[in-house]
Amino acid sequence: MRRFALAGAVSWILAAAAGAALAAEAPKEMSALEAEYRALLAPRVAGSLAAPPAIRAGRAEIRPAAGTKVYQLQALARPCGLLVDGPATLVYRVEEVHSVPLALRNVDGLRALKASEANGILTLTADLDHAAVWSRELAASAGELTPEARPLPGWLADHLERQFGSNPARDMLLSSWNEDPGYSWAVFESGGETLGFDVDPRPQSKTETLMRFDQVEIAARPYGGRRYPQELASQPIARAWTDPAASLYVVTAYDLALVNDRGEHATTTAKIRITASDDLRLLPMSLWSEVASDGKLQPYAIRRLTVNGAAASFVHHEDTLLVHLPQRFARGQSFELEVEVEGTILERPEGDNYWLLSYAPWYPLDQEGLTRASFQVSISTPAPYVPFASGAISKRSSENGVNTVVTSLPGPAEAAVALAGKYNVVSETRNGYTVNVASYLEKRDKEAKKLAGLYFPFKECYEFWLGTPYPFPELHVLEVNDWGWGQAPPGVVFITKEAFMTRARAGGEDAEEIAEATTRGFNERFAHEIAHGYFPHTAMIASTEDSWLSESFADYASAVCVERASADKADGRRRFERQLREWKSYDAEVKEGVSIHLAEHLSGRRERDGLDRYRVLYGRGPLALHALRQELAAQAGEETGEKQFFAFFRAYVMSFRGKTARTADLVALLDQITGKSWQPWFEKYVYGREKLRVKG
Ligand SMILES: [Zn+2]
Repeated sequence: MRRFALAGAVSWILAAAAGAALAAEAPKEMSALEAEYRALLAPRVAGSLAAPPAIRAGRAEIRPAAGTKVYQLQALARPCGLLVDGPATLVYRVEEVHSVPLALRNVDGLRALKASEANGILTLTADLDHAAVWSRELAASAGELTPEARPLPGWLADHLERQFGSNPARDMLLSSWNEDPGYSWAVFESGGETLGFDVDPRPQSKTETLMRFDQVEIAARPYGGRRYPQELASQPIARAWTDPAASLYVVTAYDLALVNDRGEHATTTAKIRITASDDLRLLPMSLWSEVASDGKLQPYAIRRLTVNGAAASFVHHEDTLLVHLPQRFARGQSFELEVEVEGTILERPEGDNYWLLSYAPWYPLDQEGLTRASFQVSISTPAPYVPFASGAISKRSSENGVNTVVTSLPGPAEAAVALAGKYNVVSETRNGYTVNVASYLEKRDKEAKKLAGLYFPFKECYEFWLGTPYPFPELHVLEVNDWGWGQAPPGVVFITKEAFMTRARAGGEDAEEIAEATTRGFNERFAHEIAHGYFPHTAMIASTEDSWLSESFADYASAVCVERASADKADGRRRFERQLREWKSYDAEVKEGVSIHLAEHLSGRRERDGLDRYRVLYGRGPLALHALRQELAAQAGEETGEKQFFAFFRAYVMSFRGKTARTADLVALLDQITGKSWQPWFEKYVYGREKLRVKG
């Protein structure tokens, strides 16, 4: 498991849970791949086994109680797991030094799990009512089978119906088809809680996770009653958190065309160039299988899928796309995947006159792979909607009531986004760089020109400091009809409507929302979004532990350039100091247990977890960079220290331009710049949780 998919098909999985009956009724054209996938999500109880004293997977151990019967589970007559049909004890060890405090925090208040800590190891135990474990290896080595026909127990069939996510089927298949054995997955109930684990030693993951399934409120449409996994404890397997997991493949080129022919309906065609990074027979990607719109589920269905021009079999379920490649591709070999997918996916938020496709899988995205791609994008939509997409515009046309835009993003980039709606555009070009500022519904030329005028000084400040040209010769700044957020995918800044407000216009009924949305200072937020052009779109990242290299670095860089771009020096200083105070106050509010490096591993069970993730990435992270700046000045003297600090940012961007950076790379850069070892400092403040001391 690398990430959780949080949308899915109720009807499909209900059908799958019907099990053996379904297999008989399944359509004749169902591929071997799909048959195996479905069977793994609805296994058969094949017979009983002598109960082992313990079932071990990763750092988990399930100990059946005396008298508890253990059965073998099979999928398509092949052993795939074990059913523990009665009381058992779960013992889970958290050993990784930085994972221990976070796991303690994540399980706090959970009735099912008891925590005890000794010699730096956290042991979590639970009394289980029953359990089911998927593992080819455990099932195959469990001893002699006494055939006994029994249905799947109700609790398990019910859970498999309700849960989001394509596991255990997806990773079981990847494990066997791509010959990286050892994957296991489990679900168990303990006093009304549903827990589980995912142990994935494959090179693409090398991570194990203990999780809890939370249930969507029954009344919520369309997902009421569905269960989604929340991380409780995560640990690397046979590696350190700082060692990267491998990639299965690299996407090097996308050619995307989306045609919005009517209403919310669209057909997307994606031609994708992929190079294998490891032996590859089963290709995992993520692609919407449906979207929730107006409380209903709308299918997004594949009409055509080919590999190097020939039809290939696939499974498309729960936002996972698994493609059975016609041959095994070895490391370095390339192929072209072409997918045509169609559905009613262009929801207009609250009936507004626009639709937006951001980082969601509206075309096939990498899953366990890496995208370092060039993009060609074509978006067509009925007039009067104006379409936008990531990249420089190579063509705009308007024919027979259809508006089309064609863009090109040389990359390497990680994604492309699109939007269309009733927009008015103001463009400005300086020194070969163009910014298009698009306001929603109303023409707001004055405000749009003001934004364009803000963009250039920030961009030039970053270019000068970081010694690297801004990666997007054409940037689209697009108003979103909402309040208080911004997002910066490649070549685009989505920014909410307070950006287009002057004080005069802001009076009246919306004043309160504007005040709230602008507490941060609009210039600071806009500069932050522009800085994402470098962090992470120039110096790219791949693992969730390195999120701070994107968010905290963008935040620090923007504070520096807001100060530098201020016409009035004192005002610039005041703005930087205001930002510093904000970082400090966020940092002070973070509850114990989380480090900068593991911020994305907060469970998200409680509201404070989401808040703390935000406070760490936008408070503690930039504050750590400021502490580093002060530390350099303390060690080398004010002038040299300042030089080293700014040179460090510059060296980071220049060395990792178009490449993937990790936190460990920063340590190596600093060592090189200063001739000292920075590992201990990072161990304390970035990997660890020591309190940052910052002057001023
Ligand atoms: Zn950001």
